[in-house]
Parts: sequence; structure tokens; C-alpha cells
Amino acid sequence: MHDAHCHLDLYPNPVLVARSAEDMGIRTVAVTNLPSAFFQALPHVSTYKYIKAAVGLHPLLADHHTNQQKLLFKDALKHTRYVGEIGLDLSREGLPTKDAQVASFRFVLNQLQGQDWIISVHSRRAESAVLDLLTEFGIGPVIFHWYSGPLRELERAISAGHFFSVNTSMTRSNNGKRIIERIPRDRLLTETDGPFVKVNELPAMPRDVQGVIDYLSNSWREPHDAIQHLVDHNLHTLHHRVGLQFP
Ligand code: MN
Repeated sequence: MHDAHCHLDLYPNPVLVARSAEDMGIRTVAVTNLPSAFFQALPHVSTYKYIKAAVGLHPLLADHHTNQQKLLFKDALKHTRYVGEIGLDLSREGLPTKDAQVASFRFVLNQLQGQDWIISVHSRRAESAVLDLLTEFGIGPVIFHWYSGPLRELERAISAGHFFSVNTSMTRSNNGKRIIERIPRDRLLTETDGPFVKVNELPAMPRDVQGVIDYLSNSWREPHDAIQHLVDHNLHTLHHRVGLQFP
């Protein structure tokens, strides 16, 4: 199984969650919201085979994207090939920091030029702006995490070659289902966005990507094995593209 977007460091007991993912062999990308958090997580995450630490500058934390954090971000890129979460959030919550977010995202994309990375992107209510900036900087394919925007921009993202990580919250909403339906099978990955997404009122654990596999298996009328195989295949394709291998 594969969890393309999990905030391991934000669970009450990260070690328990990490151990359980590791024991089950769930290939997990541990995204972080600030570079300082990445450096806190790195020594722990490095001890695991199936967990990779990603460095991020979460758009909703734009007020904390200080010069020091940006320097740490640059430094972090020497320690990982995984980036997330980054992007823009122009929902009501994010709108007040729009300018700071755009400046930060441009900074990040500038740093990412010249090498390929595994990138998890947040694009809530900012799908079009995110796509424009990715194109401008020539970055991608990236993984759109929890895509929730218009189908028109989804089509644009698909045409640009991007991937999409789908979580159980999407499988429970009509908008999410409509989006999942349009994602080409060879671009689909699974995620939990734990601990933010809840399953049975508890923070989603990496193993809860099983819920997405169950949903796809029902909706496509295909065995679980086939879906797992597809997601593994997509994960390997994306890694191969950037010259990496997940164990
Ligand atoms: Mn997230």
C-alpha cells in the first residue's frame, strides 16, 4: 500500500503511527509543513525503510515563512528528494495571506528548478494559479494532493501530466467522486492526509488508504489486488522518472 501524503509529525504519537506503517510495509511520504519540522522529523524518519520525509512550506502557514525557514528549505533539499506540502490556498482561510503565499511558492519553485523531485501540492481554491506557476517554472509532473477544484482545471492538470493522490474523504463526497472518476488510472495514487482526515471519527492512519482501494474496487468492479498493483505501478513510474526507487 502507499500513502502519498501523511502528516506523521502531527499525530499525538508519531512513533506509533510510523512503526505501524513500517511494519505493514506501507510506502509513506511524511510531508511536513515547515522546514524546521522537516529537520525535527528527519533523524526519526531516516531509521525507517518505507517512510520518506518531505520538506514543505504549507501555504496556510505563510506568516511563518521567514527568511530563516527559507534558508532551511534550501538546506533540506540536500537531504531529501521529497517535497510537500507546498502550494497555494485561496479559500477564505488562505485569502488574507495570498501575496505571501505566492511569493513563497515562487521561491520554492525556483529552488526546485534543474532537478526532478517527488512533489505533493496543495491547491485548494487556487487550482488555476498553481497550474500557471508550475508551468511558468517548468516543474512537474507533481502530485496534486486532495484535488477538489473545478473539472476544467482538473483536465488541464491531467493534460500537463500531473498525478493525483486520493483520500477517503474524497470517496465520501459527491464532488470527490466526480473527480476520482475523471482521473486517468495511470495517474492515480492513494493518500490519507492523516491526521486531518478522520476515519470512523479517528485520525486516518496510513493503513486507511485501504478505504480508497475498497472504494475503487467497488466502483470499478475490479479485485483489490488489481487496484493495489495499479497504485504500486504508478508510484514506481513516478519514482523511476525522477531516478528514485521506493523499497
Ligand atoms: Mn496535508
